[in-house]
Amino acid sequence: MDQKDLAQIVRQVLTRIEGEINSGGSRCIYGYDDVDQAVQAAATAQKIWHRDFNIAAKTKIINGLRADLMEHLEELSRLALEDTGMGRLDDKLLKKELAITKTPGPEYFTTKAVSGDNGLVIEELSPFGVIASITPSTNPVASVINNAIAMLSGGNAVVFAPHPGAKASTLRAVEVINESLGRNGAPCGLVATLTAISMENVDSLMKHPLVRLVAATGGPGVVHAALCSGKPAIGAGPGNPPVVVDETAHVRQAAIDVILGCSFDNNLPCTSEKELIVVNCVADELKKHMLENGAHELKSPAEIARLRELVFDDKGKPNKKCIGKDATWLLKEIGIVVPAKTRIVLVECEEDDPFVQEEMLMPILPLVRVADFKEALAMALRVEHGFRHSAAIHSTNIDNMSLMARVMETTIFTKNAPSFASLGYGGDCPTAFTIATSTGQGPTTPLSFCRLRRCTLHGAFRII
Ligand code: NAD
Repeated sequence: MDQKDLAQIVRQVLTRIEGEINSGGSRCIYGYDDVDQAVQAAATAQKIWHRDFNIAAKTKIINGLRADLMEHLEELSRLALEDTGMGRLDDKLLKKELAITKTPGPEYFTTKAVSGDNGLVIEELSPFGVIASITPSTNPVASVINNAIAMLSGGNAVVFAPHPGAKASTLRAVEVINESLGRNGAPCGLVATLTAISMENVDSLMKHPLVRLVAATGGPGVVHAALCSGKPAIGAGPGNPPVVVDETAHVRQAAIDVILGCSFDNNLPCTSEKELIVVNCVADELKKHMLENGAHELKSPAEIARLRELVFDDKGKPNKKCIGKDATWLLKEIGIVVPAKTRIVLVECEEDDPFVQEEMLMPILPLVRVADFKEALAMALRVEHGFRHSAAIHSTNIDNMSLMARVMETTIFTKNAPSFASLGYGGDCPTAFTIATSTGQGPTTPLSFCRLRRCTLHGAFRII
């Protein structure tokens, strides 16, 4: 046996141990190298979950899961940061808390009933069965928690395909979930994961005959692959959210909100503000407030050139080693030391600048000046690139706010708040870390992972 074989065996043994827990005295495997085994285990568990666990039993287990995940909030947040090298610990804690507490559960479902001369018709949402969930490197743990709660609440089982750059944190999140489910009596296999990660494995997972729905959260490649899988798909793809500030905005509050939204987890969320379009007559005032509230502006062409050199690769795309890094780190790399409280790098640009055009996923905010709101809206529409993902406005002009919401047609539109208000942090809505853009399900809830069924009873059951 040579060195290579030995390494392979060690890897396999480690993977096995990675994917197993002792649950209520018996062994539960939740992690699989083999796609078919993972899907078979999930399919068996799903049948039991759907058949033997009523709404109250499911709710009890989901509530137990929420409580157990809260116990691991700090551990999972730290691990996601260490594993990916991206983001901010304070915001990772918030993201996971949102996913744990504000992902809707089994109570979210209602039945639609229509009665008439012919009797009664009811329509209910029922599970798809086994779902393949492909998760991103930018939100690995929050996506797993959000998907697991929502998918299970709909009566499904899930097999995760972790991002290779976030494997350790994704597997640990799945392990914590399995420990909780096992302790509370849910069937083993309900939340499974692939441990051998390759494009081939993701592809065969999506195409497995027992997988009934694919949920792909990530860039254009994975959404395209999901749509080509031949399965119903939820495509949660990329965005490039513009934020507009018009001359009627509460300028100081707008400055604070834009910084908070843009710098949230170092701009990793697909919903975060990625370019700022400001009506010229308030641009200087807005900048003044931004500089007082955590922005550092790069003005000299030499400094801006050094930043470009750092954050773009030779193809002009965002340099992976800079994604999700702190503003202080990015600036230090180009020889600028700023106070630790600095949350974003502000750069004045023209519309065609790559800082504006690319989805940077870094706390770098390009600011573009425009003459008026009409110009701002036209530019916002262009730079969003038709993703119809997210956009925001700061304004007190109802006509401007309404017009922008209608024209942008984005899945998420935030008015007068940091974008994360639309993820439920400071906003009265459920949270979603899988925001289906091109496929149209919107910010996903347990309902998104179910299919509609109708039952007709002829000639009876109308009570009036
Ligand atoms: P990514 O596209 O690199 O990876 C996502 C997942 O897809 C990974 O598990 C990866 O292994 C897999 N994958 C990638 N290409 C594939 C292919 N052709 N076939 C099969 N599998 C493939 O994404 P990332 O860089 O980790 O995440 C960032 C991107 O995701 C950004 O564009 C961001 O906007 C987007 N995102 C969107 C949402 C949303 O809800 N809409 C949420 C988070 C992230």
